[in-house]
Amino acid sequence: MPTPVKITRPKPYLLTIAWSDGLETTITIRTFRDECPCASCKGENIMGTTYSFGMQIIKPGMYDLASIQAVGNYAIQADWKDGHNTGIYSWDILRGISEQHSLSEEDLMRLAEQAARENGS
Ligand SMILES: [Zn+2]
Repeated sequence: MPTPVKITRPKPYLLTIAWSDGLETTITIRTFRDECPCASCKGENIMGTTYSFGMQIIKPGMYDLASIQAVGNYAIQADWKDGHNTGIYSWDILRGISEQHSLSEEDLMRLAEQAARENGS
């Protein structure tokens, strides 16, 4: 299983991970939050059925990442500015999210243009 060698935020809205197998993935901070693997975001698996207790309300600070902490040598924990910090992303979960949502050069350009427009208005 590849592990992250380096986790950086090249832009406030991007999370880039360099992996031990040489792959580099970039996802948005928003995706990182939307894919929070904790029980209240992803629902709890009870008797084989997934119940979602997550609410689709966007809270202030929800997509603001305050910090990322290492959890042992198997995961990272994200601390969000809305106070949410129960999401523990093990390497296999993180790798799955990163591969599934990895941004192309085109996506990155579009996001940069969008950010420039938002800052300019
Ligand atoms: Zn969560």
